[in-house]
Amino acid sequence: MPGIAVLIVAAGKGERLGGAIPKQYLPLLGQTVLVRSILAFSRRADIGPVQVVIGPNDHDRFAEATLGLALLPPVLGGSTRQESVANGLEALAAYLPDFVLVHDAARPLVSNAVIDGVIAALKNGSQAAVPLLPVADTLRKKDGSGAWVTVPRDGLMRAQTPQGFAFDAILAAHRAQAGQSVTDDMALAEMVGLNIAIVPGEETNMKITTQDDLAHAERLLRGSLADTRTGFGFDAHRFCEGDHVWLCGIKIPHDKGLEGHSDADAGLHALTDAMLGAIGAGDIGQHFPPTDEKWRGASSDQFLAHAAQLVVDAGGSITHCDVTLICERPKVGPYRMAMRERISQILTLDIDRVSVKATTTEGMGFTGRREGLAAQALVTVRVM
Ligand code: MG
Repeated sequence: MPGIAVLIVAAGKGERLGGAIPKQYLPLLGQTVLVRSILAFSRRADIGPVQVVIGPNDHDRFAEATLGLALLPPVLGGSTRQESVANGLEALAAYLPDFVLVHDAARPLVSNAVIDGVIAALKNGSQAAVPLLPVADTLRKKDGSGAWVTVPRDGLMRAQTPQGFAFDAILAAHRAQAGQSVTDDMALAEMVGLNIAIVPGEETNMKITTQDDLAHAERLLRGSLADTRTGFGFDAHRFCEGDHVWLCGIKIPHDKGLEGHSDADAGLHALTDAMLGAIGAGDIGQHFPPTDEKWRGASSDQFLAHAAQLVVDAGGSITHCDVTLICERPKVGPYRMAMRERISQILTLDIDRVSVKATTTEGMGFTGRREGLAAQALVTVRVM
């Protein structure tokens, strides 16, 4: 099978979107734009090494955003897009790929159909393959005298990414044409006379440039026929000697503690199990065995973060979670907002999508007798 490498160009500063954070690191329904772009390729079995080219100030952002993903170490971009791609290609050369797909990090909604089209054209012998879309809007420009004139749009097409190339051919083109100013790799392929196949692009494969684009991409994602799943979790822990309990990631002073191998945070344990349930990934005991000394006294936020990462790895976006704590004491009310904030932080989920509720059992049962407390949790996940 031919080796297909991917080069994700994420070195732009994204200044048109305003803020201090480059657009590719902005969140889009719980995942950054960059990670969505990466996953579109890295999830596929037919695609090999994934090389990301990043901006000089983005090392920390990149490391945080892509934690847990199997990627090559990032390469620094240059002062132009062309230099950035060239740096990425030079880094990939060591892996001797047959083909490379060069993709803009700002196109997170690229579909398998577009990727399939590009790969098929390369396998059929084209040296380059580019997704194109016709121009629908009427185009105008100012002529020499400053007056507006209409540009005939017949035959005009918009180029998207991923643009696919025979690896050796595009690397040679970049080496030969270094210093030329082009806006994409197709332009370079034309300059050196590669044979280029045109494949259908898609409107949804939009490039996120403005705040409007980001909002539009979010609407597209929400409206897509995603596979919605729910997961349920339950946990209980027994009270013991102590002076505090951990609940939903918050330390609460109490006249008892909770017994458990880890920090015994029943709220986060129920939530972790719900995450795992939504993707059919077993239960918390399988991932963090109580027999493993490593987890003694462990803080449960790491269990939840791990389960959330598994959801992302499975192609899921967490859209909502709801926890119910069942106990007579401690009183949950004063800590409820802090709990929601903590969960929202761990999951990078908007706080209005995180619910924490509390109830008693009116003195009945083990929670009523104050022998321990329990928690239930429900999680909703969309899988693309
Ligand atoms: Mg537990």
